[in-house]
Amino acid sequence: MNADPDCIFCRIVAGEIPSFKLLENDRVLSFMDINPANEGHCLVIPKTHVPNLFEADDESLAAVATACRRVADAVRRTLDPPGISIAQANGPAAGQSVLHLHFHVIPRRADDDLLFNWELQPGDLDAIGRLAERIRANLE
Ligand code: 5GP
Ligand code: ZN
Repeated sequence: MNADPDCIFCRIVAGEIPSFKLLENDRVLSFMDINPANEGHCLVIPKTHVPNLFEADDESLAAVATACRRVADAVRRTLDPPGISIAQANGPAAGQSVLHLHFHVIPRRADDDLLFNWELQPGDLDAIGRLAERIRANLE
């Protein structure tokens, strides 16, 4: 498993930085985004450090895709949003700020005006932690 000591997501995988974890297995970690674009925004990452989609091995990608669906389904059961976007950026020009491959799972409403390169706004950590518990309880 590759790890980059300067990568914030590798440090979350290693447990050096706390996170509200939703799901974890050999290849994948999912946790709440602390700057939620919408309530219930969470992330799914391969544990191994790869910067983007193009560097990922097929097994990691398959595991991440499966986890994305499980997490999105749990978010759906928890918050019942009208829609859910799965978003993924490759390169800073595409809005990628953390250079460790990740997929955003974002609950959506038709009128939320969310644009691709949304601005990061810190969320309420207590509320995010409580929501993580509810989503975990809905994982199947
Ligand atoms: P990107 O902008 O690269 O597509 O997405 C990176 C995401 O990582 C952002 O939504 C940002 O809020 C999230 N993020 C950055 N640092 C941390 C952190 O320390 N913990 C968590 N949980 N999320 C983070
Ligand atoms: Zn990393």
